[in-house]
Amino acid sequence: MNVLISACLLGCNCKYDGGNNNSPILKELIKNHNIIMVCPEMLGGLPCPRIPCEIQGNRVIGKDGHDYTSFYQKGAKKALEIAKSHQVQVAFLKKNSPSCGLNFVYDGSFTRTLVPGSGIFTQLLKENDILIFEL
Ligand code: SF4
Repeated sequence: MNVLISACLLGCNCKYDGGNNNSPILKELIKNHNIIMVCPEMLGGLPCPRIPCEIQGNRVIGKDGHDYTSFYQKGAKKALEIAKSHQVQVAFLKKNSPSCGLNFVYDGSFTRTLVPGSGIFTQLLKENDILIFEL
């Protein structure tokens, strides 16, 4: 089975601060599957490290006050194309991310406050009936 994974969960240093969210448990869970790694934010053309962003309404705003929505949308579309091209039906995504979050995202105040919602990429995966788990 082809399984889509947020690249930072597999140790890829693509997180906004240049680090990762390596998950040894996830690596164990998926060891017998074919892995498709994506980082929607980098696919959208954002650098690493980059300005942290949070969702405000239907926009993605950086801590510097700029609107980065177009980068997030472009990366989400590219990552979805990759998922579709591999007939992915299951994804494991990084929780709370403005791209990959599933059940909660930060509220746009940059105070580490979570609110119910999904990241830009996750919203696209949901529309395409891909089963999503978050870590
Ligand atoms: Fe990880 Fe997703 Fe953020 Fe990329 S966009 S660093 S894969 S959470």
